[in-house]
Amino acid sequence: MTGDEMRAQPPLGLLAELTHRCPLRCPYCSNPTELHRASRELDAATWGRIFAEASALGVLQVHLSGGEPTARRDLPAIIRHAVSAGLYTNLITSGVLTDERRFNELVEAGLDHVQLSVQDAEAGSADRIGGYAGGHSRKLAFAPIVRAAGLPLTLNAVVHRQNLDRLPDLIELALALGAGRLEVAHVQYYGWALRNRAALLPTRAQLDAATDTVNRARDELKGRLVIDYVVPDYYATLPKACMGGWGRQFLAVSPTGLALPCHAAESLPGFTFPDLRTTSLQDAWNNSEAFNRFRGTAWMPEPCRGCARKEQDWGGCRCQAFALTGDAANTDPACALSPHHALLDLAVREAAEATPDFTYREMGRAPAPAAG
Ligand code: SF4
Ligand code: SF4
Repeated sequence: MTGDEMRAQPPLGLLAELTHRCPLRCPYCSNPTELHRASRELDAATWGRIFAEASALGVLQVHLSGGEPTARRDLPAIIRHAVSAGLYTNLITSGVLTDERRFNELVEAGLDHVQLSVQDAEAGSADRIGGYAGGHSRKLAFAPIVRAAGLPLTLNAVVHRQNLDRLPDLIELALALGAGRLEVAHVQYYGWALRNRAALLPTRAQLDAATDTVNRARDELKGRLVIDYVVPDYYATLPKACMGGWGRQFLAVSPTGLALPCHAAESLPGFTFPDLRTTSLQDAWNNSEAFNRFRGTAWMPEPCRGCARKEQDWGGCRCQAFALTGDAANTDPACALSPHHALLDLAVREAAEATPDFTYREMGRAPAPAAG
């Protein structure tokens, strides 16, 4: 089947954004700039129905995320729903709200895996980046609770100019905390991160040193630590296959129940995303205009339309295309063939002159748009 004829295949994974509430205020947070309040969140029973529909559709894993998912007091009930739907459950957490008693409730509910985010390896810098005093030490206390319960642990480190030089320390931290996997992900620039881009973009020298560090550590730590490495688009000449292609492998559900082809898609204008309070997940995935708009290759403009890579990267990231060019249907500017590729070089040059100050994520305050 070609991309032009692409019909919806079953999704593999579901990102369940249970809440936008979070005690941290990371300046690169991937939540939309318009954060939803607790009163609009789906209840546990509705999540249960969505998990059952997801499982029937072919989903194998649910990533329980946010915001901070442990801000929900009913998280054990939500996990139980996912487990009874037959889903593998992965909790993506900052770890700052969960003591041993609460964590054991999650384990008893059937939690399978934990991904713990860290902002840096050095406490003062980590707390500054996360905008939460004492957060780093709470994370260090949380990781042993996970390991003592026998659950596998992944450490997530979002990296950027202000912590990238400590990547070797982040690798040491992952080992010290007993993580089996470390995700080193460069910031993706939309929403809050786009507003803070000038303070976050790494230099070329930092990026090259980090790539060397990852390659060396992968060799040295084979069998002890798996390192996933997501490289930054701003030094790329080829885009990533964002989400494995729009509506191909993954979907996200927002705290209020909108089905999204990607967690950042809610910020795209001109879309009516399916509301899972009134629409089934199957109908949303297979039949909705929002999921079908960028599925396959028929929607592509040139240069993607005639390109041999169009079924490898699917034209890159729609949210980045919109954030930088104002049109989500454009080729991702991360591609050197994009007529907008020079915007990335311009941003790198501007960042070299910028101050390290952040605009922190806050409920009820959307950041002013950054220049594209
Ligand atoms: S990125 Fe930071 S602020 Fe955003 S949900 Fe995660 S921990 Fe909270
Ligand atoms: S032109 Fe389009 S399909 Fe080709 S490499 Fe660039 S983004 Fe990918």
